[in-house]
Amino acid sequence: MTPQSPDLDLSRRLLLGGGAGAALGALAPGLLHAADAQPAGRQGPLPRRADVVVVGAGISGLVAAERLARRGVDVLCVEARDRVGGRVLNHHLEAGGTIEAGGAFIGPTQGRIAALAQRMGVRTFLQHNEGNSVYISSTTGRQEYTGTVPPDPTILPDAGVLLTRIDSMAAEIDVSAPWSHPSAREWDAMSLGEFIRRNAVNASGVGNLIKSWTQPGFGADPDELSLLFVLWYVAASGDETHVGTFSRNSDTAGGAQERRFVGGSQLVPIRLARRLGDVVALRAPVRRIEQRGPHALVQTRRGTVRARRVVVAVPPPLVLDIDWDPQLPTDRRQLLRHMDMGQLMKCDAVYETPFWREDGLNGFGINDSGAARAVFDNSPPSGTPGVLLAFVGGSTWREQGPRRRRERREAVLRGFADMFGERALRPIEYTESDWTKERWTRGGPTALHAPGTMVDFGPSIRRPFGRVHWAGTETSTYWSGYMDGAVRAGERAAVEVGDRL
Ligand SMILES: Cc1cc2nc3c(=O)[nH]c(=O)nc-3n(C[C@H](O)[C@H](O)[C@H](O)COP(=O)(O)OP(=O)(O)OC[C@H]3O[C@@H](n4cnc5c(N)ncnc54)[C@H](O)[C@@H]3O)c2cc1C
Repeated sequence: MTPQSPDLDLSRRLLLGGGAGAALGALAPGLLHAADAQPAGRQGPLPRRADVVVVGAGISGLVAAERLARRGVDVLCVEARDRVGGRVLNHHLEAGGTIEAGGAFIGPTQGRIAALAQRMGVRTFLQHNEGNSVYISSTTGRQEYTGTVPPDPTILPDAGVLLTRIDSMAAEIDVSAPWSHPSAREWDAMSLGEFIRRNAVNASGVGNLIKSWTQPGFGADPDELSLLFVLWYVAASGDETHVGTFSRNSDTAGGAQERRFVGGSQLVPIRLARRLGDVVALRAPVRRIEQRGPHALVQTRRGTVRARRVVVAVPPPLVLDIDWDPQLPTDRRQLLRHMDMGQLMKCDAVYETPFWREDGLNGFGINDSGAARAVFDNSPPSGTPGVLLAFVGGSTWREQGPRRRRERREAVLRGFADMFGERALRPIEYTESDWTKERWTRGGPTALHAPGTMVDFGPSIRRPFGRVHWAGTETSTYWSGYMDGAVRAGERAAVEVGDRL
């Protein structure tokens, strides 16, 4: 171990529950409080050495750093942005209340993020789900319905068959090695779109419906996704004791969209970073990682730190922006080149009240065309103001993303009005977050495997490279792509590194 700085000692005391750490634990959950403002992190020059440097202060990097600090390891977490949380970012509405620009929902079997949030004193609330959902089809028009799949007679039989098949194929997949399945190469060579075309009578109808799952869930269309990757994603929508299923991934009640966090999901990384204190250094993008003998040199904009081990917890495409010496192993480089981020933005319209609830609607809607293809009630837990959220992803992002904000706003509001009536055209506030434009994320919600990339390149996903270990949600075996996967990956990387010091 390297000598401890007095700052680190202080951070440790906080972690172990004394001083400000205990005060933090006593905060009323979810209340906006000075302690919930963005932490300033470590000021002044960075230390010249640390046992471990963690790159990235998203949920995964912060969890890895905290786990290591709890073991008594001298750890520094360096973050490119001037804030923590990465893909998790709160947005405070002018009308009052907080919504999320990025990751928001959690659900059953996402036990790791739930436990972390509880430890940070961040409560959850049930996503509003009372009343009917709305389905708009270019062929059958507008319908209200309950349950998972809209009762469209032109689509229902295909949807039933396809979803059952997806679940049964996913049930055969080993979440830690999807490439080892006997049919892995065949499934990986095919896109989800092709699988739909081969197995459905009304392939364009059901394919269009499935887009309203893949566009928000992956930021992509079925033709862009390897079938093996999608099956693995479904398999990963569970935990060690619950097999992953399509409905646990896609549903609100009993699924991944069941709950949100009171005060916004970013409270979780903010409070965690506050506990870590000087362990976290903001505005310190890592430019180069050099491995020499028993050390790695991590070069950041705020100086170079010598470490015995490094945990890299940044989105896969951003790993390639770092200058590596020696260069990354060929299989890792190829894996990363094949894992681009999805294309996704969130568009929220704010109203005095959630007026759709008065009409017996739960605020969830699916449309097979237009700008608002997957819509959720995104109101704060009090129900005031009312907020409608459209996920604009994949080909819908490609249509809408490049448009002027005013035109896109109009198209999104039109989509809300088609579902919930003309009042939706007159919001008191409108906000949008395009993750493809984020320098330190480049898209969302996760990195994807296009057809033909998972079997050949996937196996190196968690393989350490010398003194460098990999975290980040994409390296998780369960709930990869989600906040829960980010926690799991951080915990796993901390054990891996801690055992090698
Ligand atoms: C629009 C959207 C909606 C989503 N919805 C949900 C949801 O409802 N539920 C859910 O569970 N998940 C959701 N997700 C996904 C979830 O947010 C992510 O899976 C999770 O937050 C990823 O955490 P992470 O720590 O692995 O990565 P990140 O959050 O991406 O953190 C990586 C960090 O590394 C930093 N970084 C990058 N490069 C460098 C560098 N060179 N040097 C230093 N730092 C660097 C970044 O700034 C960032 O802070 C959503 C994501 C998006 C974008």
